Amino acid sequence: MTTRFTLPSLPYDMNALAPVISAQTLGFHHGKHHQTYVDMVNKLVPGTEFESDSLEAIVMKTAGKPERVPLFNNAAQTWNHTFYWQSLDPRGGTPGGRIAAKIDESFGGLDALKKELADACTGQFGSGWAWLVAEGDRLKVVKTPNAETPFTKGQCPLLVIDVWEHAYYLDYQNRRVDYAKAVIDKLLNWNFAESNLQRGMQPYAAK
Ligand code: MN
Repeated sequence: MTTRFTLPSLPYDMNALAPVISAQTLGFHHGKHHQTYVDMVNKLVPGTEFESDSLEAIVMKTAGKPERVPLFNNAAQTWNHTFYWQSLDPRGGTPGGRIAAKIDESFGGLDALKKELADACTGQFGSGWAWLVAEGDRLKVVKTPNAETPFTKGQCPLLVIDVWEHAYYLDYQNRRVDYAKAVIDKLLNWNFAESNLQRGMQPYAAK
């Protein structure tokens, strides 16, 4: 096992997202779930052709390869979680700049985008993720099952919401819709979305 990949620190305090996401949820989610994905990548990479690849390159190269499913799952989950922490901001806020214009163009307004995102969160059957992505010159809402991530499919992730049960069960039990609505209304990091949009189709470098 190497220690080439490390768990990134959260970009805010453990209790900063409460009451939408409690410190207890964040503690388990970051300290246990995310840590386990990182540890598994460090365990699975040695001895493969991916030893000097970035995390993003590993995800790209293992996507859709039946013989690389465990490495893909753990590498993509590592990337997705780092992206999720960045997608949340305790101060919330509203989109501005270029992304605000793109949202109007692609969805007809912020409320329509929020509704589509909430529908993606509740419409994802089982574990997965709801995303705002850029594809070509438009923004789209997409959902992915399990560890799948849009940047392997020519879409540039702008924001994500984790809809695995471990993301909300301690705080909301079965009420995924309440978790989704609270995150969408109060915690989305629109500055992060804007920076991802500005960078173009290159996926966020999770390190
Ligand atoms: Mn998760």
